[in-house]
Amino acid sequence: MLVDTYGRVATDLRVSLTDRCNLRCTYCMPEEGLQWLAKPDLLSDDEIVRLISIAVTSLGVTEVRFTGGEPLLRPGLVGIVERCAALEPRPRMSLTTNGIGLGRTAAALRAAGLDRVNVSLDTLRPEVFKALTRRNRHHDVLAGLAAAHDAGLTPVKVNTVLMTGLNDDEAPELLAWAVEHGYELRFIEQMPLDAQHGWKREGMITAGDILTSLRTRYALTPEDAEARGAAPAERWIVDGGPHRVGVIASVTRPFCAACDRTRLTADGQVRDCLFAREETDLRGALRSGAPDEEIARVWRRAMWGKKAGSGLDDPSFLQPDRPMSAIGG
Ligand code: SAM
Ligand code: SF4
Repeated sequence: MLVDTYGRVATDLRVSLTDRCNLRCTYCMPEEGLQWLAKPDLLSDDEIVRLISIAVTSLGVTEVRFTGGEPLLRPGLVGIVERCAALEPRPRMSLTTNGIGLGRTAAALRAAGLDRVNVSLDTLRPEVFKALTRRNRHHDVLAGLAAAHDAGLTPVKVNTVLMTGLNDDEAPELLAWAVEHGYELRFIEQMPLDAQHGWKREGMITAGDILTSLRTRYALTPEDAEARGAAPAERWIVDGGPHRVGVIASVTRPFCAACDRTRLTADGQVRDCLFAREETDLRGALRSGAPDEEIARVWRRAMWGKKAGSGLDDPSFLQPDRPMSAIGG
């Protein structure tokens, strides 16, 4: 098992399949993009499947989330999912995506064994989408969402980041739309993980702001704490149910004490936290011919030293060198 000194057990593995992306969300990366990882540095499909296999068969991982960058840009994605679905025990598998291209691949991903998707969408207004992502692809995301729903990649969850002056007035409208389409909406507080280091606590929209805005139109009842488990989202029952809305308040209501995550970057580094400043290299071990038991041992050791919290509230907090898109959000 992947246990740390605080007794937490990591059973949820986030795998970044690429650091590249076809959008340029302002809270994530600059307009010109980033220096992408070189191809030889990326794990191959075989290497990714081998590491996931070790995680699932030897380290107690039960959930695998594919992410990035934009994971749909990874040519081998469907094959990776298919091979992971054949593992014993079979992990539950989901994908976090911006939805572009999901219209074409949702059915194949479902057939390969993917269980669910989280699609990121911050606005219902095409012109705001263009301002937020610097690309004119709103329609593709909506088509991707509908295809995911039709393919049975359910519950389809929608991740939304609210940004001051851009889409901070849209929370109730987004919830009405999500309820209508049967999507589960989750607001994510903006975190200091952008490549440009432009995040400011004073400028962010907090969970409190989001709830105040939603309550102008909806009655929200907190779901009981037990139902939450290690999930990052706190959930509220909307107008008596059955619909729920979630808020991931990583900044103002951190949930580090219940964290069950371990992360693998596209170049084969283990991270014990989104905000970690240190990583452990698994790619080197893999490429030097280490057996599975040795790789499992390195992974266990990497997680053992996980800190109690993200350190965001500490005056000495330093943003990690890798931005969110290269860590795998
Ligand atoms: N490209 C995919 C997508 O956008 O869904 C997967 C990777 S993206 C890094 C994963 C999630 O992180 C998205 O829901 C995105 O909105 C969120 N995200 C990116 N930068 C963020 C930031 N600075 N603060 C909070 N969430 C962020
Ligand atoms: Fe790309 Fe996702 Fe970052 Fe937006 S949040 S730029 S879609 S990686």
